[in-house]
Amino acid sequence: MPRVWNFSAGPSMLPESVMRQAQSEFVDFEGEGMGIVEMSHRGATFTRVAQEAEGLLREIMGIPDNYRVLFEQGGGRGQFAAVPLNLLPEGGRADYFITGHWSRSAFKECAERYGEAVAHECTRKDAQGRVEVDYGAMQVSEGAAYAYCCLNETVNGVEMFSLPDTGAVPLIADISSDVLTRPMDVTRFGALIFGAQKNVAPAGLTITVVRDDLIGRARRYCPSVLDWAVLAKHGSMYNTPNTFAWYMAGLAFKWIRSIGGTEELARRNQEKAELLYGAIDGNPFYRTQVAEGSRSRVNCVFNLRDEALNADFLKEALAEGLSGLKGHKVLGGMRASIYNAMPIEGVRALVDFLGRYAGKHA
Ligand SMILES: *Cc1c(COP(=O)(O)O)cnc(C)c1O
Repeated sequence: MPRVWNFSAGPSMLPESVMRQAQSEFVDFEGEGMGIVEMSHRGATFTRVAQEAEGLLREIMGIPDNYRVLFEQGGGRGQFAAVPLNLLPEGGRADYFITGHWSRSAFKECAERYGEAVAHECTRKDAQGRVEVDYGAMQVSEGAAYAYCCLNETVNGVEMFSLPDTGAVPLIADISSDVLTRPMDVTRFGALIFGAQKNVAPAGLTITVVRDDLIGRARRYCPSVLDWAVLAKHGSMYNTPNTFAWYMAGLAFKWIRSIGGTEELARRNQEKAELLYGAIDGNPFYRTQVAEGSRSRVNCVFNLRDEALNADFLKEALAEGLSGLKGHKVLGGMRASIYNAMPIEGVRALVDFLGRYAGKHA
């Protein structure tokens, strides 16, 4: 079976060269007579692999020295708890800027379990009834411990293209699905959290990039494995990390550096997004409910005009090697995730299919 074009939102496709390299050294890593997944996380070899991965991430993301990089488990949702447990004092308050499913989920985790969270609804409808980000609604309230946002709403296909001014209040962002898809000024944030399975590595690895002064404030009962101070002190090896995903992340970071870093990825991702949205906007058989200025470059959410054709559409697409186009269960419809590893050829194949499918059913 040849490899298909995999549009899954996550876990999602990885660069083929990265998969091939992992395959080639899976059983015998660098002549050690064992695979990376069989090695002690404390041994010299894995320690080097781990440090290399962190160094590469620091380089390609431009992470300054006063930020720690923590390699964790528990996913994005684990960090929805870790953020208030580390940053929200008992009796304190946090602002959540809600732009879709994931920021709302993070808000709920905080509000229902850890303390006062203020939900700011930060989307609105434009004149044509399409969703757009309302940056004006991103106002911090007096005395907030932090402000929280999700830069790319994977489910809704809504992306933020500017950042709120939160003054001295640290801005915390979930970048699970847009990490490394474009250059980013890390210094604008108190902390960045992301699950690796959208754009970086296999599932089971979560990375937190956090400014030094925000470490060491965790509540007494914060689980040690979520306490950023504990993780920082132990070099993310307080408990056994996901060594395989950590190693794979390193390979992906190396691939990103080799092709020209986040600037080149931003160019490619923009080109892919323009091609795909152009095809959707240009054909009345399809529609997207996201306004132009707020469309995610990496998760294109769209609907068929005739939703009764959804199952048939997915079946026909799969028969042509276009996989993973079904929308998230909360929204229905279709979603094409075109992260860093998706080559433009995959998007061309999808655009070609969209045209032919519409033609057949017009
Ligand atoms: C997928 C996703 C999550 C949830 O991640 P898990 O690792 O499944 O907990 C959170 N935020 C965003 C933006 C996501 O895309």
